[in-house]
Amino acid sequence: MPELLVQIGGKTLPLRSCHWVLFGPNDCAYASEYGDGASSAEQAHANFTPRQRDRDRQTRQGYHVELLSKDQWREQAGPCFYGTCTHQTLTAEATQ
Ligand SMILES: [Zn+2]
Repeated sequence: MPELLVQIGGKTLPLRSCHWVLFGPNDCAYASEYGDGASSAEQAHANFTPRQRDRDRQTRQGYHVELLSKDQWREQAGPCFYGTCTHQTLTAEATQ
């Protein structure tokens, strides 16, 4: 199978070096998988959230799937998975 290439931020990268990330309404990353696990954001979303009804609800609530390069992943999603991001705190403060 030929290597799939994608363009992110003006760079051409192998898809498998990238990550699909499910972001919540507060821009916090909730799920992540390797780029070659899906060929579209819709497919990646189906992997993260298998039930169509749940996906529709997530989409209505502002969840979205993005393809990130390794660098972007480290910046935008890494802290969420390491528990050091500020998204959750900000949301909690805003609703208090
Ligand atoms: Zn976060």
